[in-house]
Amino acid sequence: MNTVYLNPRYLEKVPACPVCESVGRETVYAVTQGVNAVRCGCGVFYCDHCLTEEGLTAYWKDYLTDEHNADEEERALRRRMYLVDFDYISRFLPDKARVLDVGCADGLFLDLFAARGHVCRGVEFGQSAAREAAQKYPVWEGYFPELDIDPGYDLIIFRGVLQYLRKPRLFFQKAVSLLDAGGFVFITAQPNMHSFCHGLYQNLFKFHLTPCDCVGFSPQSLAGEFSRLGCFLVGERFFYEETPYAKPEKDIATVHEALRRKASGGVIEEVSPPFWGNMMTLIFRKQS
Ligand SMILES: [Zn+2]
Repeated sequence: MNTVYLNPRYLEKVPACPVCESVGRETVYAVTQGVNAVRCGCGVFYCDHCLTEEGLTAYWKDYLTDEHNADEEERALRRRMYLVDFDYISRFLPDKARVLDVGCADGLFLDLFAARGHVCRGVEFGQSAAREAAQKYPVWEGYFPELDIDPGYDLIIFRGVLQYLRKPRLFFQKAVSLLDAGGFVFITAQPNMHSFCHGLYQNLFKFHLTPCDCVGFSPQSLAGEFSRLGCFLVGERFFYEETPYAKPEKDIATVHEALRRKASGGVIEEVSPPFWGNMMTLIFRKQS
């Protein structure tokens, strides 16, 4: 997959912030030669290059088989993570909630909602994933902001998808327009650009910016985006110890070693471990 998003043939320059469209920015670190992670004054981080249409198609065409389901062990861990996420959001939901998962992949996360009697729908950009999910739920295949979807949802899910969006505000506006008053937007499995590890590890942060994972948020930047749309933060978690990825003693030792290297003027060589604050889970509620 690296070959697609680091191949210059598939890259184009990003002239302005994908969120607020401001051109002012400061370079934070180099992703690869000639490609930088930058920070906008609005608080959003983004990559100054992104994939072209052709690159995006190449990346997503085989995403489900190449990346999402690449490793059986990874897949098992992700299923356990789905349970952690579901356990949290399900406390907010009414019975028979109408749920839309934007970026539903093969529909496995939706399965947990369906098993509790919620009414499930999906949106998916990747063709093979969309077809797999469509065997279980009504699924719209394509670009979410342009899809013709009737409103009336209690919950809209963005699980691990916001980092790929070229025009995030179009997605946020569409989501809020589909929600009933009092409905929820659930953002989870989302890298936190204000995390301790992103600051320390930079391009070795496991979820660092790339031309594919091209935009990065923090709790503050997302709260700002949703408050513009009349939605307010009602839940916030940074899952770590409850996840199947956490090995606190080992992870602390790894971060300690990185800090020691940095303090002595050396270079950090290892990728960041799972850690407190790396990933954020946010729940916004549309004003009644
Ligand atoms: Zn901006």
